[in-house]
Amino acid sequence: MTRKRSNATGTPWELSGFLFAQHFTRKQLYGSGADFIIKKINEKAQKNYYSKQKQIKNNKDGTFTKAPAAACVASLEQFETQSSRGGSQMKVDYHVHLEEGPYSLRWLTRTAEALLFFQQPDSPRHSLAWMEEMTARIGKRVAQGAFSREWLDLYRVRAKQLGLQEVGVVDHLYRFREFKPYFEQHMHLADDELGRLQREWLDQVCTTSIDEFVSFILSQQPVWAEDGIALRLGIEADYFSGGEEVLAPLVANYPWDHVIGSIHFASGWGFDNPQTQERFLAMSLLDLYEETFAVVGQAVASGLFDIVAHLDNLKVFGHRPPEAKLVPLYRRIAGLLKQHDVATEINTGLYYRYPVKEMCPSESFLRILREHDVPITTSSDSHFPDHLGSYLEQARNTLKQSGYQHIATFEQRKRTLVSL
Ligand SMILES: [Zn+2]
Ligand SMILES: [Zn+2]
Repeated sequence: MTRKRSNATGTPWELSGFLFAQHFTRKQLYGSGADFIIKKINEKAQKNYYSKQKQIKNNKDGTFTKAPAAACVASLEQFETQSSRGGSQMKVDYHVHLEEGPYSLRWLTRTAEALLFFQQPDSPRHSLAWMEEMTARIGKRVAQGAFSREWLDLYRVRAKQLGLQEVGVVDHLYRFREFKPYFEQHMHLADDELGRLQREWLDQVCTTSIDEFVSFILSQQPVWAEDGIALRLGIEADYFSGGEEVLAPLVANYPWDHVIGSIHFASGWGFDNPQTQERFLAMSLLDLYEETFAVVGQAVASGLFDIVAHLDNLKVFGHRPPEAKLVPLYRRIAGLLKQHDVATEINTGLYYRYPVKEMCPSESFLRILREHDVPITTSSDSHFPDHLGSYLEQARNTLKQSGYQHIATFEQRKRTLVSL
């Protein structure tokens, strides 16, 4: 699948100079089961907003602008999707974040894009009044923070649109002040270029409290239940070699539905930071993969986690040894997952947000996981409400093609396999 730039057809949808109107095919954006809602949204949006501004373009090449999905929340709530609710299939997204810094201008713009996705200002586009309304909304969002009913409701609305039955929110452990010393212990924070950069990043993203997060999600579960959607309480915890001492009480002391373990650091270096990606060029890739997969194996064997996430996210910027050389590593991890009865996920995040444009795990890794009968769930790794459920239809099809018939769901750390 390739995203198409919007310079050929349609009206670019700009946000303060940001090109926002990338074109997607319907299936790329919403999955094949969501045509009904798209039709309804388009009708509504046409009536309410775009009919005046003539901005909807159903393009001859089968693509359409992203803009029509932006109708007001109240309107979207009316539309029930043709979900599989009540049927035998389950659609779930078990890896969703409410917020992550750093609080850059890009963060501000991305947050505005997410707000616009769900609700257009009443004022004419890009007028001063439009900007005043947008800045008021963004200001409110920043002041309220991510743990607000209003922000989480956007995820709920999107979950309804997509027909998701279970959504697991798993903010990153490094967001929480209580665990800052854990990251200070394991990250490279020395007084050198990498260390200074990572110190700055940690200070920027570690801004909130785990107790606040947990109590907020618990308080919202009944609201979601009214819509027939299970809101699961989870956590995405970085595993570092020897991190068990800190992580064991974390796992034990909160009422998690699922605990995700993940690896974002190799010897203290956050390898998914685009600012440091040149480091890949200076090392033996096979050594790096072997060392990192050894830590993934330790995470699996630690007994701490229900899911070990995005197993091969080292490929994030496309630096990877030949796949054949990685197969023994894949086999070892698959064997450990089976042996320790730990699930993994098909995670679409690297597909739509990173240069590698490939889901985790890779095709051959997935085949090996299937051969070992490793339980798996589906994850978008979304960090904003409009990304919830992104490309899960493709992920589900990929799972089916590789022979999976079930996906894993979690409640209070009890895993249940349900029909895919
Ligand atoms: Zn992650
Ligand atoms: Zn994540």
